[in-house]
Amino acid sequence: MFRILPKHRVLYLSPLLAVLFALLGSAPLTVSGAVRDGSIRAETWTETAEERAESAGRAETYYGSYKLQTFDSVRHHTSFEFNAVAARWDATLLENSDVLLFLRTSRDNRGWSPWSTVEPENDAASNTGTNFGNLLIKRGAYMQYRVQLTAPARGKLPDVSSISFTFIDSREGPETRGAASGVAYAAEIGPRVISRTQWGAEEQLRFDGNGRETWGRQYTRPTKAIIHETVTLNHDPNPAATVRAIYYYHAVTRGWGDIGYNFLVDEQGRIYEGRAGGENVVGGHARCFNWGTIGIAALGEYNSARPSLAMIRAIEDILVWKFRANKINPYGHGVLGSYASRDIPNIAAHVDLDGMCGNSHQDPGKNLYSQFPSIRRNVARRLAGVTGTAGPVVDRPAPSAPARGGVKEPSYTVRTGGLGLSLRSKPGMNGQIIAVLGDGIVVQEITSPIDGWVKSVYQGKTGYLWHEYLLERRAAVPPPARRAPGRLRPGASAVIRGTPGALNLRQGPGMESPVVAKMWEGLGVTITGPAQSGWYPVVYTDGSGKELTGWTWGKYLKPGASRGRQAAGTAMLAGTLGIPAWNWRRRRRDQMT
Ligand SMILES: [Zn+2]
Repeated sequence: MFRILPKHRVLYLSPLLAVLFALLGSAPLTVSGAVRDGSIRAETWTETAEERAESAGRAETYYGSYKLQTFDSVRHHTSFEFNAVAARWDATLLENSDVLLFLRTSRDNRGWSPWSTVEPENDAASNTGTNFGNLLIKRGAYMQYRVQLTAPARGKLPDVSSISFTFIDSREGPETRGAASGVAYAAEIGPRVISRTQWGAEEQLRFDGNGRETWGRQYTRPTKAIIHETVTLNHDPNPAATVRAIYYYHAVTRGWGDIGYNFLVDEQGRIYEGRAGGENVVGGHARCFNWGTIGIAALGEYNSARPSLAMIRAIEDILVWKFRANKINPYGHGVLGSYASRDIPNIAAHVDLDGMCGNSHQDPGKNLYSQFPSIRRNVARRLAGVTGTAGPVVDRPAPSAPARGGVKEPSYTVRTGGLGLSLRSKPGMNGQIIAVLGDGIVVQEITSPIDGWVKSVYQGKTGYLWHEYLLERRAAVPPPARRAPGRLRPGASAVIRGTPGALNLRQGPGMESPVVAKMWEGLGVTITGPAQSGWYPVVYTDGSGKELTGWTWGKYLKPGASRGRQAAGTAMLAGTLGIPAWNWRRRRRDQMT
């Protein structure tokens, strides 16, 4: 589904994946049947036309000028009990339409878990095509999904032409509950880290059929750390199993060849080695920002839950260790280079990159993000205690102010100092030169860089450009709501602007909170109270004049009154509906066969 603000789920890498496919000529996406990779079991179920036809059916409900259609699938029985599940679907979205996906699990086909929202992992800007959902840590031997399609009443509903689910059982393997946490900080050595061997990484998952690493290792000298959250389970009874499930999901299901983070941290303060390769290996956790950064992921979800002190200490341990080794100032900030040219703190959150290079994940949650000032302070204090200084500075000058009114997708100006820049057929110096671009030419990025090469199109030719000669033209993306508008005070009016269609109204301040309505582009809301970490309490009046209250992310709220009539749009209630029997349109079934 295509949330206006998909919260970060695991990491952002799919363009890299696309390039990997192109390079390898294979798509390691689908695992058919039950596969046993060492101790991890996995199987993928792709719904057949027959299963879709025989399933519970649909309900179609109209809300003013919009309609909502709900479809519940058959209850699929897996061949083994799983502890994690991830979805993949192909959708075609039209203007103002949306696809929402939910799933629930059962161990016995009688007692069922609550429905969990499946958040899309894809770029917020591209609503059509293949989507992967976030990895859900849920146990069961049965799974049922629900799709909700929304569109204007007289418009076409979006198409979901194919849907599949990968079930993972990663419970077999070392348990780390008894393992020591990373807190035993040693100035020279660093904190204790649970190695890949210790958490049971099956290294063969990183290799393709020819024995080659799916994702070749690269090394970088870090100047910053970027902190994420995995949005998996809180109070996880078996965090090592979750790390293994994430590993399988990233390496095999997504086809990336490994975990994207350099480190993962659990609630007991244990530190897990992430990406293979050791010291300073380049991870894949934040598009355009992987080179020169250390990716650290907090296991769990911290918009509603609070991070434990042990978890925060473990994050600080990694930072003290790495910042000391690489002489990084915990209070510093700057840009990573011409490519990733936003001024960000040296201890940054993934959300700080929002809108840059397609990064759109709003993580980590507010209860962890709010700890950043104290994390910086603690790291600085500990570095001072170790080195006798507040830490040497590896800052870079702040970039100039972003250009106004840029383009929607990241695009780049060639800056070579007068020379030509080669567009190559492959990422690498041995790629054939298919065009030479002059200074000042503007190109559009197709995917994030692989090993520093950016896939682009020039005069109809697709090829790769070396990133160092590309200056990013800043996208016309509003700044993150955290630094946002002083004028959105209680009592103020605001207009929804800049969404791809609709903005979610949620019950509470946070992505985990249920959606109560869709609020449409151009319509107005009234702010009813103070913001909380970028979330605003609002009143929204739908097409029938009904007032709906809830919380919404402030990024798309612009001060001012709506010029259009409120009745021009309608709120869509995405609640549970009665579901009469139906069959999907024949055209859809045909598409699947
Ligand atoms: Zn993230």
